[in-house]
Amino acid sequence: MSTKKCEICGQRPATVPDRDRPGRLINRICSECHRRKLSGDLKVVVAKKARESEPVLPVFIHTPLGWITQAPSERWLGYLEIAPRSDANGPEAPIMQIEGRTREQLLRRMLDEARCQMRLLGTMISWAENQEWARRGKK
Ligand SMILES: [Zn+2]
Repeated sequence: MSTKKCEICGQRPATVPDRDRPGRLINRICSECHRRKLSGDLKVVVAKKARESEPVLPVFIHTPLGWITQAPSERWLGYLEIAPRSDANGPEAPIMQIEGRTREQLLRRMLDEARCQMRLLGTMISWAENQEWARRGKK
């Protein structure tokens, strides 16, 4: 019996459906990746709340990887958005909040994380390419 691998990490067995994919409930991702998605959601909600309740207007700076700002604590916060953007005002749904002691450190961390996400995607794509249905189309 073949065990389906997680479509995100490609490592662990897929045990839960991907809630981002409507339709039939097929186990596509592992619980670890599912947990990460949920915690990502939570961070987005927290970030939005923080933005709404911020008494002093924070300055958000747009970067190619998402927007960044300096928190009242002087730490830098970045909201990584590496999905296609739908408007010039910046990301609607950052995938992750990242912190840095300085702006440079934050930007470096955002770049590292973006690279890591790219590798994850690459793993997912090569996993998909090796599936029977994908091979059938090739010579
Ligand atoms: Zn996984």
